Amino acid sequence: MIPEDAGKPPVLRIGLPVPMRRSFDYLAPPDLNDEQTLRLKPGCRVEVPFGHKTLVGVLLETSRTTDIAADKLKPAKRILDDAPLIPLSLLTLIRWATDYYHHPTGDALCSTLPVLLRQGEPARTRTERWWRLTTTGKGLPEGALKRAPKQASLLACLQTAPQSAAQLNKLGFTTANIKTLKDKSLIEDYEEEIRAPSAPLDAAELLAQSPLNLNDEQQFAVGEIQPGEHFQPVLLDGVTGSGKTEVYLQVIEKALRQQQQALVLVPEIGLTPQTIERFRSRFNCNVVAFHSGLNNRERLDAWLQASRNEAAIVIGTRSAIFTPMPNLGVIIVDEEHDGSFKQQDGFRYSARDLAIVRAQQQKIPVILGTATPSLETLHNALEERYTHLRLTQRAAGAQPPAVQMIDTAGCKLVEGFSPELLEAMSEQLTQGNQVLVFLNRRGYAPVLICRDCGWIANCTFCSARTTVHKKQHLLRCHHCGFQQPLPPRCPDCGSVHLDYIGHGTQRSEELLKLRFPKTRIIRIDRDSVQGKNALESLLQDVHSGEPAILLGTQMIAKGHHFPDVTLVAILDADGGIFSADFRGAEKLAQLITQVAGRAGRAQKPGRVMIQSQFAEHPILQTLVSDSYDRLARQLLAERQTIGLPPYRYQAILRAETHDPAQGVTFLRQVRELIDGLIAQYQTVNVLGPIPSLMEKRASYYRQELIFTTTQRQPLQQLLTALIKNIEALPDSKKYRWAVDVDPI
Ligand code: ADP
Ligand code: ZN
Ligand code: ZN
Repeated sequence: MIPEDAGKPPVLRIGLPVPMRRSFDYLAPPDLNDEQTLRLKPGCRVEVPFGHKTLVGVLLETSRTTDIAADKLKPAKRILDDAPLIPLSLLTLIRWATDYYHHPTGDALCSTLPVLLRQGEPARTRTERWWRLTTTGKGLPEGALKRAPKQASLLACLQTAPQSAAQLNKLGFTTANIKTLKDKSLIEDYEEEIRAPSAPLDAAELLAQSPLNLNDEQQFAVGEIQPGEHFQPVLLDGVTGSGKTEVYLQVIEKALRQQQQALVLVPEIGLTPQTIERFRSRFNCNVVAFHSGLNNRERLDAWLQASRNEAAIVIGTRSAIFTPMPNLGVIIVDEEHDGSFKQQDGFRYSARDLAIVRAQQQKIPVILGTATPSLETLHNALEERYTHLRLTQRAAGAQPPAVQMIDTAGCKLVEGFSPELLEAMSEQLTQGNQVLVFLNRRGYAPVLICRDCGWIANCTFCSARTTVHKKQHLLRCHHCGFQQPLPPRCPDCGSVHLDYIGHGTQRSEELLKLRFPKTRIIRIDRDSVQGKNALESLLQDVHSGEPAILLGTQMIAKGHHFPDVTLVAILDADGGIFSADFRGAEKLAQLITQVAGRAGRAQKPGRVMIQSQFAEHPILQTLVSDSYDRLARQLLAERQTIGLPPYRYQAILRAETHDPAQGVTFLRQVRELIDGLIAQYQTVNVLGPIPSLMEKRASYYRQELIFTTTQRQPLQQLLTALIKNIEALPDSKKYRWAVDVDPI
């Protein structure tokens, strides 16, 4: 029997960077015959006409069948790549992710490519000029250039092999030498891509620096993890300073010895030159880092090196999870609990969770390292879905810091500092040590209030207060960036009695300068750290070891190693205790533990003082007198009782509208659709429409429906069916709406 579609031209099914949940069919460009078309591999880029525009998309598959009428099919303009840019393994991951997070595949696929590739640039690294002999040059009789020894030796050099211009210069040949031979048509130049030294080096030359001698726990951990053998999710649960990085390095070493690559994901604020340097200095191999300082060209080169196996180690923030790496042997997610692994707009994926999926698909180990596991990860480890490895001791013999609560409820504070804390600070500074003061609030004061009528300065576009930035004489919204001049009088009653309430880092800095006039105060927050090397140079000041007060927000909370800090002060530990977000307590405990972990990391013992109005609160008490681990288990038990993640799965459908009533109307319509479907998905609970935690943001009112369930599958099915129905609603395009699976 002849198949029905025999004789029809094959089509290219293409993912395009558009917000539609579908692929697009095109005919092949006219210069390809059917056979050539069918041989095209998924993952190549294709340039196609789309409306009045030309778009660069990614080939998903070729097919003999299509739903599009033959006269509606347009030919693609060009195939941009000879070989797939996105290997099949990565295509599989991205398609899995777009199914799971209900995001348009083409859009996600294109967004994982470096900008230049999205714009249709050739997939080539930078080129350099090379020189080789021409046929005339090759055929020149020996001794022909006897009277010009320099030219003769250049010719002899190229006789062996072509050379790059840079190499010839290094060998002492001038541009003039080269030109002379070129003018005689003896040599010619050509462009060649710059190649990084190929990743796997000789085993004997692999290490640039000897590894540390591991303690027993580290040794056990390294021994448990076998790169590239089979899927193995590992929670590396190690207290701050326990030497997790050394474990990563030695596992990576195993991978490199097997000619495999390693992918290291770090939180946004963790991708510092020091972090990169720790990996670079250990190995004689090409380490690429995707940091914000790269320009588009450098980013493309790094990406291509990874994808050609010319980079052995790739370090990056969440989007690096989509780096093509043909010989990937291990994935490491450092500080896995960090919120920055979750993308909060557009394609809302969790890089940590996708690291697990990628490792599973590629049958390799994945290490989630942290001192403060997220409850999701801890739960998986306790359920024995993950190998749970612990490092309970600080490496290098440093002692864990002594932690003390200071009850500020009945105590008179001096600009946010208790007398006891100021005393302890001055003692440490006198002894020549450094003090770290943590305050997770930048700006001068979080609230501006009128003493006469109670007016409070709110953001025009968000349901949030604006922060006073006194030096700049501004009120600023930290959510949407809106700013306006500090008003001289109350806009409501005209009173001039405007008060600053609460403390931000700028205000604390002011006090500390008065109090400790001879001490260097190093403030590190997003306002003080601007420009490429600002953080670097501030950190260098800290590392000079001079007595100093290091004052900062969460930018200093994680990852850094400050050997001379002996006292860590947490000015206000109350933020998360009564938070409306059910993750508030977890996040607070993680932050306190991480900040406290900056104390006494070297020879000098450390001390931590935590100020709180609720010093007796069970969360703080458990954390201080017991451990993060104990508290985390208690919080897990609570979540189980109440029925919250990780015991139930969540998804949110959020609508954003300028008129709050519209959002509610739209979500009511969606609920009706759900009621039509829900019989099939009885196990899914739906709540809402309710306002989001922050109802108004950047002038959009946010309303949401919350889905919860004990099983992922019915929720996924419901969402798939629901999204189809919503898109079929006549006015669904009028609204901004999005689905967030496993929201944080
Ligand atoms: P973590 O990432 O767990 O907080 P780090 O990896 O930064 O800890 O290690 C803390 C310090 O301990 C570093 O200075 C590191 O060089 C040192 N260190 C780690 N392992 C060892 C070891 N086995 N012997 C000696 N020092 C070690
Ligand atoms: Zn007033
Ligand atoms: Zn705002």
